[in-house]
Amino acid sequence: MTTPLSHDAALDLLRRVFGFDRFRGSQETIVQHVCAGNDALVLMPTGGGKSLCFQIPALVRAGVGVVVSPLIALMQDQVDALRQNGVAAAFLNSSLDWRAAVEIENAARKGELKLLYVAPERLVTERFLSLLAELEAGPGLALFAIDEAHCVSQWGHDFRPEYLQLSQLHELHPTVPRIALTATADNATREEMRERLKLGEARLFLSSFDRPNIRYTVVEKDTPRRQLLRFLDGHRNEAGIVYCLSRKKVEETAEWLKLEGYAALPYHAGLGQDVRADHQRRFQRDEAVVMVATIAFGMGIDKPDVRFVAHLDLPKSIEAYYQETGRAGRDGEPAEAWMTYGLQDIALQRARIDESESPPEIKRLEAQKLNALLAYCEAPRCRRTVLLDYFGEASQPCGNCDVCLDPPDLFDGTVAAQKALSAAWRTGQRFGGGHLIDILLGKSTDKTVRFGHDQLPTFGVGKDIDEHTWRGILRQLVAAGLMRADLTEYGALKLTDAARPVLKGGQTVQLRRPSKQTSKKAVRTKANAIPEGLLEKDLPLFEALRTWRLDKAREQGVPAYVILHDRTLRLIATIRPEDEEGLAVISGLGAAKLEHYGEELLEVVAEYAE
Ligand code: ADP
Ligand code: ZN
Repeated sequence: MTTPLSHDAALDLLRRVFGFDRFRGSQETIVQHVCAGNDALVLMPTGGGKSLCFQIPALVRAGVGVVVSPLIALMQDQVDALRQNGVAAAFLNSSLDWRAAVEIENAARKGELKLLYVAPERLVTERFLSLLAELEAGPGLALFAIDEAHCVSQWGHDFRPEYLQLSQLHELHPTVPRIALTATADNATREEMRERLKLGEARLFLSSFDRPNIRYTVVEKDTPRRQLLRFLDGHRNEAGIVYCLSRKKVEETAEWLKLEGYAALPYHAGLGQDVRADHQRRFQRDEAVVMVATIAFGMGIDKPDVRFVAHLDLPKSIEAYYQETGRAGRDGEPAEAWMTYGLQDIALQRARIDESESPPEIKRLEAQKLNALLAYCEAPRCRRTVLLDYFGEASQPCGNCDVCLDPPDLFDGTVAAQKALSAAWRTGQRFGGGHLIDILLGKSTDKTVRFGHDQLPTFGVGKDIDEHTWRGILRQLVAAGLMRADLTEYGALKLTDAARPVLKGGQTVQLRRPSKQTSKKAVRTKANAIPEGLLEKDLPLFEALRTWRLDKAREQGVPAYVILHDRTLRLIATIRPEDEEGLAVISGLGAAKLEHYGEELLEVVAEYAE
């Protein structure tokens, strides 16, 4: 069955129901493709706008659109958001009691629902499969949407065995179009989805994986806590995630941030199920929670207004980093990905790989992945181009990362590298960075004297460079693979084979001068708490709108962003519409929201008339 959709009709739906004025990227093509009854495999980054790709076709086509989604919290949010827009939507999952589930099934049978979200384990039950048969014979099945389709990949970390059974849908209902969606980009997973979900003929829609609204910054670890505080200062009253490697550090960091006045909560796999659920709920519902977490805090974070993701420790690969930072700014508003890292982090990650029980080929792969991440950290060029390169996508310097905004000084570091390598070599490759720097700077310490290192020809040859810069140089040499930090020997720096041509003078080394950690950076991040794109004079109205929104959200027991997005509030505060007509042109206000909230919004605006 095909239901062609004209450009005008599609746009009208987008405006009327969702209140958006234009489609993003390939949304419209996908919508038309699915409306016409075809299968699609959609790869779009987080925040790209995947939901509309199946929600609009479900509205257009006859019958119910069935959406498979692995996460209860996510389902609930999507259904709440659809209802706010006046769309008849419901979900079936383990959070419902028997009676409520039956009611929803009946509503579907009567053709009263346009979208039905269902957990995968429920979808594959006899009961649900027979409901599907009834629906197809009755009101109709508009489509099957398989969200988070990468869960079918057995090698991925989000594997859900029930996803393997979803190929049945096609066997049982061959004429119902299917649309599988994911933000996981790599080729292997893509092929696995196609094969396991039997999407052989489905057209692939591959979007750019760039997240232009995220600003990437990597700083050298120096005084991590102070650095983090300075960063957080630009994000007061905003929600964000701080990732740490260990549970202990998560706990300590959360405690300390609380003392610093942030609404910080810990999250890691060692906490009880209830505590974790409670913290996740508070993060999702409240406006400005800082979640301090290990990577256990991952999929299922569907909060669109996460304004920052900070890494206090090095992740294990670019994939992991991109996924973790990708949780910021789903709403398309400016967001920040910030990381602090140092020599010790490299040593820790190396040790993790070395000490793991994995077979050698896996270890080698992990080491390569770590190296790629280190190259990213030390990159003298646009961070975004490095990231996208890694995913096989060409791009131009972005103008929205620390390197673009504040290009580092590059210098010929061959001589400095030789001095550092030789200091490690002449001391038997048994000492860590701190001691090597003492030698280079010619500092007589107990240790230099005790080992006779003050007698070495290298002693004091690096006085022309300050300590901070030396630390940066050592880190860059490690990141470039000329030295490696051995954690089993307390971080002793050892030379690798790649160091030889440098020591012998056959190869030059280009280095980045570590940035001075001055206030220059702090000024560049938001100088104060005014949200980007808002003028100071509009701040009071914006705050009043936020308060109004919080009341509405509490009343209805939904997250604030389900009522209206920040962007919509900001537009209202800036444009200050005086009547319904003025409100109607604001992005994010569809017909249902206009009807429910229009009058109250105009009242709030009127109170702040200039
Ligand atoms: P994804 O599932 O790809 O992560 P979502 O479907 O949740 O992304 O959409 C991300 C955000 O972008 C949502 O807040 C959504 O309302 C918004 N959005 C989606 N499409 C559009 C559009 N065409 N115009 C404006 N906002 C949009
Ligand atoms: Zn850049």
